[in-house]
Amino acid sequence: MTIKTIITEPNKILRQVSKPVEKVGKEEQQLMDDMLETMYSANGIGLAAIQIGVPKRIIVMDINQDKNKKKPMYLVNPVIKNKDNLKSTYEEGCLSVPNQFAEVDRPKNCDIEYLDYEGEKKFLKAEGLLATCIQHEMDHLEGILFIDYLSKLKKSMIVKKLSKMKSSRIVV
Ligand code: ZN
Repeated sequence: MTIKTIITEPNKILRQVSKPVEKVGKEEQQLMDDMLETMYSANGIGLAAIQIGVPKRIIVMDINQDKNKKKPMYLVNPVIKNKDNLKSTYEEGCLSVPNQFAEVDRPKNCDIEYLDYEGEKKFLKAEGLLATCIQHEMDHLEGILFIDYLSKLKKSMIVKKLSKMKSSRIVV
């Protein structure tokens, strides 16, 4: 397993639409292993492949709060089958939008169809934090970031801040 570099906003790669996976093979499993390792090392609860520069429809997640009991989830080609009209609000952050947080409304419940680590078709009824996390990660597959839901002003302030952080970064 290898820890990869997480791409941060602003970066065009994050705006790419990811492509469906034809078959879950060794290569995809290796990618999922690397993604999970990268996510854990960055203290995240979800990561989409595009965040490490791979435009494939693959997500890894672990929303378990207890770090000693890891419960990784692997979602390949996830599709939302059903969404709730009820909304829930969480303060969201993103490994690609470092140190920025904002409240986002999303459907409270959703049903997902996906392929697991072995390539088997699965169905999941998600609610609460899990539903929010899945929708956040699935947005990445469409090139959408949570800051896109904020007001133009708030979004541009965050992007400006991140650009500044990038330009003042030195590597010696
Ligand atoms: Zn994210």
